[in-house]
Amino acid sequence: MKSNRVQSKAATPAEFNPNVFRRMLEEKRQDLLVALGVKFDTIARAGRVAEEDQAQMSHDEFISLSRNKQDYQALKLVDEALDRIAAGDYGVCQRCEEPISPRRLEVLPWAKYCVRCQDRIAARADHQEDDAHVLANVW
Ligand SMILES: [Zn+2]
Repeated sequence: MKSNRVQSKAATPAEFNPNVFRRMLEEKRQDLLVALGVKFDTIARAGRVAEEDQAQMSHDEFISLSRNKQDYQALKLVDEALDRIAAGDYGVCQRCEEPISPRRLEVLPWAKYCVRCQDRIAARADHQEDDAHVLANVW
């Protein structure tokens, strides 16, 4: 009997397939574009409300705009991750250049940094939240 079975557990991490993450990122990108489109429509309609409704609509508009900002940040990160896949350096920490764990990428496919660097950045940026940190709460 040949022992070919052993080869299925090769040294190359089989689970790390950038195409899997590309698909996740492209799906997320579509979601974000749809979400942004819907919000633009909401804002456009808000612009036509009567004067007496303005106070209420301004509040809704404010919420909508702040969500838009997060979606734009998310879209930017997703696009950057897709660029990294295209460039062939996806899954590498942009700070220490160590590989980012596939488990982390499964949760945050647009992650720029490994957990260690992310924690350091988050600890330093008390007021200015890191993009990826904000995103962790969005999705
Ligand atoms: Zn790192």
